Amino acid sequence: MGTREGAKEPSHVAFLFGDPVAHSLSPAIHNAAFSALGMDAAYRAMKISPDDLSEAVSSLRSEGVLGASVTIPHKEAAAALVDDLTLHAKAIGAVNTIVVREDGRLLGDNTDVAGFLTPLDSHMEGLRGGSAVIFGAGGAARAVCYALLTTMGPSRLAIVGRRIEQADQLIADLAPVDGLGVLRSTLFHEAERAVRNSRLIVNATPVGMEPAGAASPWPASSDFHDGQVVYDLVYAPARNDEQTRLLRDAAGQGAVTIGGMAMLIAQAAASFKLWTGREMPMDAVRKALSTTS
Ligand code: NAP
Repeated sequence: MGTREGAKEPSHVAFLFGDPVAHSLSPAIHNAAFSALGMDAAYRAMKISPDDLSEAVSSLRSEGVLGASVTIPHKEAAAALVDDLTLHAKAIGAVNTIVVREDGRLLGDNTDVAGFLTPLDSHMEGLRGGSAVIFGAGGAARAVCYALLTTMGPSRLAIVGRRIEQADQLIADLAPVDGLGVLRSTLFHEAERAVRNSRLIVNATPVGMEPAGAASPWPASSDFHDGQVVYDLVYAPARNDEQTRLLRDAAGQGAVTIGGMAMLIAQAAASFKLWTGREMPMDAVRKALSTTS
């Protein structure tokens, strides 16, 4: 984990392991938090190839290391490299945070669950027992699915994939937390009724980010209506539009909308608390993000 000659090393450090990492907002978030709390600590983004992940995870067992964030494409592989997993990291099969415990053991957790749920808190009462739709069947969809099954108690939860086998695999893997058998897999062109009838619609595909910023995973905006919450995990829409097209369409039809930046900050705050035991100073973090391009 190279250091700059002559630069004073902080006493504590946390890392981001992923590829790519150059455009990640996580260093801005965590370094703003360390700085606002006056902590002698730093957060460093490391571009790590799949071949180097095992060594990178092992290197966390060093003096002063708090832990690491794990992002694409390593979340699943990292789950097999830590010593222990939290219950939900195990159920999801993916880790986005590694914590170095006092005894040196590495704990894998998934703070995407708490990060996803935090912005939904104030809407949860109205959602409970209703049906929901998730676009996408990848890593984030797994965390969302687990979060909803364990808190919202949906009457029906449709996983909308572009490859039905991927959605079916997600359902098979999460069967142990789907006690009532509410999970369903469907393809995009079969999902119209599910979208119209759902109280909660979540986009867990990258559609809406660069280079497809003008695109929506659900272009039929007339399927949205008031009484729905539409939540887009995408946090970097093209051309710095404040909202993705999905959220603009949904808001235009009277739905409540939630953007991905709220989840990004909330999952980072949960990781920060695991590493430091401290609450993330939100004002400082939002200020830092407002000046980060
Ligand atoms: P992932 O594991 O690659 O999964 C992406 C899913 O979207 C897959 O099911 C993929 O299907 C599907 N998909 C991709 N392009 C599509 C298209 N054009 N039309 C329909 N479906 C498409 O990625 P992920 O980790 O789940 O992340 C998904 C999104 O959530 C990303 O934009 C990510 O930045 C965002 N995210 C945000 C947060 C946050 O804190 N706000 C946290 C996690 C993730 P295929 O496998 O067939 O490609």
